[in-house]
This record gives sequence, C-alpha cells and structure tokens, in this order.
Amino acid sequence: MKQVAVIGAGAMGLATAYFLQQQGHQVTVFESDSIPGGMAAHFDFAGISIERFYHFVCKADRPLFDLLDQIGLGDALQWRDTSMGFYFNGTLYPWGDPFALLRFPGLGLIAKLRYGLHAFVATRRSDWSRLDGLQADRWLRTWLGAEAYRVCWEKLFHYKFFEYQERISAAWIWTRIKRIGTSRRSLFQEQLGYIEGGSETLIRRLVERIDDQGGTIHLGTPVQRIVIADGAVTGVLTHDGHQPFDAVISTIAIPYAAALLTDLPPALLARYQALPNIGVVCVVHKLRKPLTSHFWLNINDPRFEIPGVVEFSNLRPTGTDHIVYVPYYMPQTHPKFTWTDARFLDETRRYLQLLNPDLSANDFLAARVGRLRYAQPVCGPGFLKDLPPLTPGIAGLQVADTSYYYPEDRGIAEGVRLARAMADAVHD
Ligand SMILES: Cc1cc2nc3c(=O)[nH]c(=O)nc-3n(C[C@H](O)[C@H](O)[C@H](O)COP(=O)(O)OP(=O)(O)OC[C@H]3O[C@@H](n4cnc5c(N)ncnc54)[C@H](O)[C@@H]3O)c2cc1C
Repeated sequence: MKQVAVIGAGAMGLATAYFLQQQGHQVTVFESDSIPGGMAAHFDFAGISIERFYHFVCKADRPLFDLLDQIGLGDALQWRDTSMGFYFNGTLYPWGDPFALLRFPGLGLIAKLRYGLHAFVATRRSDWSRLDGLQADRWLRTWLGAEAYRVCWEKLFHYKFFEYQERISAAWIWTRIKRIGTSRRSLFQEQLGYIEGGSETLIRRLVERIDDQGGTIHLGTPVQRIVIADGAVTGVLTHDGHQPFDAVISTIAIPYAAALLTDLPPALLARYQALPNIGVVCVVHKLRKPLTSHFWLNINDPRFEIPGVVEFSNLRPTGTDHIVYVPYYMPQTHPKFTWTDARFLDETRRYLQLLNPDLSANDFLAARVGRLRYAQPVCGPGFLKDLPPLTPGIAGLQVADTSYYYPEDRGIAEGVRLARAMADAVHD
C-alpha cells in the first residue's frame, strides 16, 4: 500500500483516486476549487443544475461505460437521437447525414461526393500512424478539395485555433470525426448519450466512493509545488506545508502543472512549458423558446465570429426551458479573452436572435459566462514527440492532462482510461 497524492479533482483526478483506492492505496486528492468536478462541475442555473461546459457521450466511450457500471451508474446512461444543423450564409440547413449533404445548396456535386467519401473512409479507418505527422488543414484540403474545405472547415479552424490553425495534427482531427461519426443508430441517424442529472452525477458518485473507501479530498487546497529530491518525489507543498507521499499524480492542465514542477531538470521543465493550450469563454443561455431542433449547429456566415453553438436541451431534457452553449475557444492572447461578461452576453444574444429571429428579449431567461484559461491542448503534427513521457523519469511521479489522450481529443472517457493506467502504474 502506498500513500498517493492526486492533484486535481476533475473527472480524471477523481477516477484515478477511485482506482487507486480500489487497489488498496491510501489516496489524498488536492483540489484548488471549492467544489470537485473541474470542467465537468455543475452550477445552479436559475433552478437547473447544469454543467459549466456541455458534455455528451459517444458510443465509442467504452472506458466511461465500464466505470459507470462499476460504480452502479450503468442505468444512468441515456441515449437520444440527435441532429446537426448548418447555418450557412443566413439560412439554416439540416446537416450530418447523406440526404442532408445531397440537398445542401452550398456545395457542388463533386465537393459533396468528396466530403461524403472522406467521412465514410475516416469513420472506418483505424490506423492513425500516417496521419500523425500531417497538418490537419492540408489533409482535409487534399481529401475534400478547396471548396468543401472552405465551406465546411475553414471557419471552424479559424475560430477555434486562430494563430494555431495550421499547427493541428490530422490524427487529432481524425479521431474527432470518427468518434462523432460512429455515434449513430444508423447511417441516417446520429445518437448521442448523456448521464442522467449531468456529469455531476458521475462526479458525486466518485466522491462518495472515494470517501467510503477511506480516501480524503481537500477542496480549496491548491498544490503549490511538487517536491522532488534525489530523483524521486517526496510529497507536495500546500498552504499547510510539506505533505509527504510515496507517489504523486498530477491531473491538472499542463501549464498549471509546469508551475508546480520547478524542481525538475530545466530541460524537462521547458518541454512542459512549451506545450500550447488555448482557453475558452463559454456563454450559456437559458431560453423560453427553442433556438433550433438540433444539438449541434455549425455556423459559416460573415456576421458570426464563432464556429457554432450547442443546444444542450436537445440532448439532455432540462424541463420547459432551453439551454444553449456558445463556446469561444481562443488563445489567451486573443483580444476577446479579456472582454467583460456583459460584452459576451450582448454578442451572443445578437447571434442567437440572428439564428432564430423569433427570439425576443423576453425569451432570454438567464445567462452565465464560464471561463477557463486552459481548456484545450493544441496538438500539432507529431505531437507525441513534443509530449514529455507520462512518467517523466522521477520516481513516484506521473503527470498527465487531456493532452495525454492524443490522438484522442479531451473527453471524460479518455480521462477514465488514462486514470486506470496511472493507477495500475502506481500498483506495479
Ligand atoms: C467547452 C467544453 C466542452 C466539453 N465537452 C465534452 C463532452 O461533450 N464530452 C466529454 O466527454 N468531454 C467534454 N469536455 C472535456 C471534459 O470536460 C474533460 O476531458 C474532463 O472533464 C477533464 O477532466 P480532468 O480531470 O482531466 O481536468 P479538469 O476537469 O480540468 O480538472 C483539473 C482540476 O484541477 C484543479 N487544479 C488546477 N490547479 C490546481 C492546483 N495547483 N492544485 C490543486 N488543484 C488544481 C482544477 O480546479 C480542476 O478542478 C469538454 C470540455 C470543455 C471545456
């Protein structure tokens, strides 16, 4: 049995702590926030408990299903037929299935065939080794041609990655296409999942299980330093001083972890510091009327500086009100990153009214702006050679965040998979 510190009480940190406790270790979780959950945490949105950031489940999320079964939440997973829309130059079109593609007036026939072929091949592909070194925008242009790339992808890259848009790995984009493209009931019907009560249901149950098994979770307790001496971790430093541990697992965003890892050899520390990670400002609106009938809405229209919106209540039922998330991903250097909440609220209200002109001022019932400084690693071509190893050669230390899911994108299921691997590594 080892004394293990887990830094971060997000989904991955809690799952790591749960698996470690299962294996008989004594676990202490340190969380800087006053509540557990990290990106998957909830807030009270004028009477509805809802995620700070929307969460859907895909059919490929096997590690999550296994964990839900293990902690008695298998029945909480629900599936729903969902759909995509495409708001293109002022008109809303259906999107996301072969009929929608054929009827879409924004592309010529050849571009449609190339788009469809690419989607078909991408969802059937399993080997990503050849995609790893390729630039995503070039890979897409080669398959789709200039027209379909411009109409379907260009804005998405631009409004998510800005100066990094030409530094995205094709393997990373491919896993996103595949994960969503295979979450279907049939070729014509997308199906996504949600956890009843939202991701908080999972977070609460993990906290209960960790507690039942004798683990400790310290909320409001940021780790200030991971203490390393003679090539091994000795513990962590918090406002209560040095706390000794046999092993330390960091699950916080790498830019935050780098600030705690100042005891590392400078060359290794520099590798963590060099990993780019963009932020997000996510505006959530509660509406009296639906915005659309779709879960996703991709947007390509010169009046909008966002790539899309997510109408979450078209996946998880949220009573009579309608919940729409408007995410603004951007590097921290982007001028909008410092906008006030009021500016984001004004802009997003205007956008939602453009998308659905039936929405009047009275239909906006509540709103909230959530911010994360580090929300999304930027995974460039050949990303694995930039990423320091999960066990960076310091005895007892493992450092991971959502970058370590590569080529997969962030996702709770991937966090659970990695959590199990990290717990096993301590055990071994
Ligand atoms: C807008 C958005 C949409 C998403 N949509 C989906 C989706 O649909 N489906 C899906 O599966 N996933 C989705 N995700 C991703 C998912 O939320 C993450 O993959 C997952 O929650 C990450 O969990 P984590 O534990 O790795 O990190 P986090 O949730 O970031 O947890 C890290 C924790 O560490 C804490 N911390 C930071 N510094 C310190 C410190 N010094 N000491 C102690 N604690 C510290 C933080 O407060 C935080 O609670 C989405 C994420 C975002 C932002």
